[in-house]
Amino acid sequence: MITTAKASLNEPTVSRLSGKTQVIGLFGSPISHSRSPIMQNTVFEAMDLDYAYLAFDVGEKHIAEAVSAIRLLNMRGANITMPLKRLVMPYLDELSPAAKLAGAVNVVVNNNGVLSGHITDGEGFILSLQEAGVEYEDRSMVVLGAGGAAIAITVQAALEGVGSVTLFNRRDAFYDDAAAMVQNLRSRVPCNVDLFDLDDHDTLANHIASADILINGTPIGMEETLDQMALPDPNLLHDKLVACDVIYVPSDTLFLKEAAKRGCKTVTGLGMQLHQAAPAFEMWTGKRMNLAVAKRALLGELDI
Ligand code: NAP
Repeated sequence: MITTAKASLNEPTVSRLSGKTQVIGLFGSPISHSRSPIMQNTVFEAMDLDYAYLAFDVGEKHIAEAVSAIRLLNMRGANITMPLKRLVMPYLDELSPAAKLAGAVNVVVNNNGVLSGHITDGEGFILSLQEAGVEYEDRSMVVLGAGGAAIAITVQAALEGVGSVTLFNRRDAFYDDAAAMVQNLRSRVPCNVDLFDLDDHDTLANHIASADILINGTPIGMEETLDQMALPDPNLLHDKLVACDVIYVPSDTLFLKEAAKRGCKTVTGLGMQLHQAAPAFEMWTGKRMNLAVAKRALLGELDI
């Protein structure tokens, strides 16, 4: 049953929430754009599960307190998003093998006070490619950015048989950490993984010219950067490329619009968002997520 807010205003119904409701948080900043609360809560309601999913704007300084709150309030867990995916790791008790490899966590599960960290972003991205009918085995990928989402995609891509992944990140304070992570990955996954400076335009142009898949793994294109893209020159796009964005609000980013204009097949971040959520839902509730309801909630197609 999917009750609607409009209907419930006119016809009061018994609240689904109870004294036993299990709370799941979404920690990150900015957070107000997220459609995860609508998606998760709509599915909890549709599946008659006594859970509530709430977004909390948590910045870097407050990650330790936010994790303490999971224990103190006996929350069932949390999703972790930008900019906390790496920072959260030292505060957890256990990490999944994929989270260790990616050096990032987007899901926390609280089992009787033991907090485990997982990463489902990479799995979500690869499933979104499959859903869009994109061939990726033995293909070459270029990823703009080397943050949590970009590295999670790289790890999963390598495990799924992608031929090479070349990451480009601006050369800032984070660059050396990214280089160390790429070095570590290289020795552990059966795929060529490289990292270059995003400002090295010649190297970027050469790699994009021979790439099959180009991914924006940065937040450039959302919120106050709607009219920007991480790709420094749209003329680097060519019609043999599949262009993918991790951003899902808006789903038609400037990067994808420019790519479509130049004949690229495009894949928005919506599929990744849906498919990274499903394994988290299952870890928290022990139930398979109703993907059809989740997708409609994510796309804003439900009257809620
Ligand atoms: P993150 O760990 O903070 O990484 C952000 C990346 O973007 C870093 O490589 C960062 O480089 C780069 N970046 C930031 N500002 C930049 C700029 N002005 N110019 C060039 N590069 C810049 O964040 P994340 O968790 O990977 O998230 C990145 C994006 O993916 C966000 O928009 C997030 O909403 C989205 N996402 C979507 C899904 C989904 O399911 N669709 C899942 C996860 C994430 P520096 O470190 O050098 O700043």
